[in-house]
Amino acid sequence: MGNLARINGGECADHHVLWSNFDLRFGVGHTVTDITCFQTCFSCVSTPQITILIPDDFDDDDFYLMNWTLDQIQSFSPDAASFAAGQKLGKAGQWLTTGESENALWGECQGSGKNPYQIRVDKREFAYRCTCPSRKLPCKHVLGLLILAANDPKAVPQKDQPDWITEWLGGRDERTQKKQEKAATPPKPVDEKAQAKRMEQRQNRVAAGLEQFTLWLNDIARTGIAGLERKPLSFWEDQTKRLVDAQASALATRLQVVAEIPGSNADWPEQLLGELGQLALLVEAYQNSETLPGDLQNEIRQLIGWTVDQNELAASGETVTDCWGLLGQSYQQSGKVQTQRNWYYGVETGRPLLLLQFAAGNQGFAEPHLPGSFGDGDAVFWPGTGKLRGKFLKREINQNAETMFPMLAAHTIPVFLDSVADQLAVQPWLDIVPALLKDVIVCHIDGTWKISDSEGKSLPLAGNDHWLLHAIGGGHPVTLFGEWNSRTLMPLSVWANDRFYHQFPFSRTS
Ligand SMILES: [Zn+2]
Repeated sequence: MGNLARINGGECADHHVLWSNFDLRFGVGHTVTDITCFQTCFSCVSTPQITILIPDDFDDDDFYLMNWTLDQIQSFSPDAASFAAGQKLGKAGQWLTTGESENALWGECQGSGKNPYQIRVDKREFAYRCTCPSRKLPCKHVLGLLILAANDPKAVPQKDQPDWITEWLGGRDERTQKKQEKAATPPKPVDEKAQAKRMEQRQNRVAAGLEQFTLWLNDIARTGIAGLERKPLSFWEDQTKRLVDAQASALATRLQVVAEIPGSNADWPEQLLGELGQLALLVEAYQNSETLPGDLQNEIRQLIGWTVDQNELAASGETVTDCWGLLGQSYQQSGKVQTQRNWYYGVETGRPLLLLQFAAGNQGFAEPHLPGSFGDGDAVFWPGTGKLRGKFLKREINQNAETMFPMLAAHTIPVFLDSVADQLAVQPWLDIVPALLKDVIVCHIDGTWKISDSEGKSLPLAGNDHWLLHAIGGGHPVTLFGEWNSRTLMPLSVWANDRFYHQFPFSRTS
């Protein structure tokens, strides 16, 4: 390619937006020698253009050599301080040795101890280890090595693996094999009597909790919802806590979301009534679940807060082999627990898979999941009607988004809405549905953000700042992935200009 690149969109007053866009497309760490802006207005010109001059030594290959983008590395940093510390270490002078092989990245970094810390990253599954005493996962050294590889690929040269890397990878392979063997052998017999007793205790606790919750709902129905927007937060929080104590944690999380509705917008009474009705229906369905089909029973138990144990998953979970791409990530805070939703899609099967991770306090999530990564693997789905939630038995990152993303089955807006209607008919409590929509244009009309297709069908977007998204699309149709909650679509990633972009800074307000 030449040394002039052109990207669409952006506000001239805000170069940061454009820089991050630029970084994603052309690799990080190249000095831009000049940036010229043509000031245009988004409302009247569909494709404003910004011209960026790329320095002569820019090597297109660098982008492909790069393992992860800074954005991705930031997305799995345990906190901002670790990422900042990682950035300081992400410079060639900070390392005694570094290297990369087909399967691993490694480096040695002098810390405060006598011996240098040894940092290793398994590229196949994205696992890592560092010999430093930090409890952060990943620690700043791992982040530093990844940032160095992203910023300056030449500083992490291709080499033969040292013995300590070969041994570590060998040990990991051995453990993976043992795990697979263990998963294939029948589980040990459990103390059935003790288990039945624990089960009964829990059932009683949940039943009592739901009875109390029904009284609370009936109280609201009797006194009406007028004035609920002026209730103190404790009105909702106390009830949420009671449900948690009754081990109906999933129901508690739903109630927490409902608590944000009163007073949030002009239509809140209607919305609240609908949501409370859904909760009442869910409780009733649980109390009468023996009359329902098995899949639905399973689903309802999970919606209340029963977890699926590993034996049950091995026995009744459905296993699907495919090439899985991670299309988006979102977060939800519930008390001290943070939930991470990872949305995978199967290229062959077209099936979405929701992989949940939980983290307490400010601990990081156990496994990093890389948005935009694609790889072959076996997934197992939780039993139930939705068959959305799942996890990987194994998955290797061995494909690239450039080839795989265009093969994903994206839908038009009408086809997507039809499929949502079908899903809701089976499971009326479905609160969040993944949406992969093709040929949609991001528009900003009268202060409202939406996406629309060529036939004028549109969906409103959640949040009120989508300028970056707008800039990436530049007024052209894109493929967009997001979470649909039957009211608004929260965009999580977009495929445009043959590239994958994810994580748009915005907040969901409705
Ligand atoms: Zn470390």
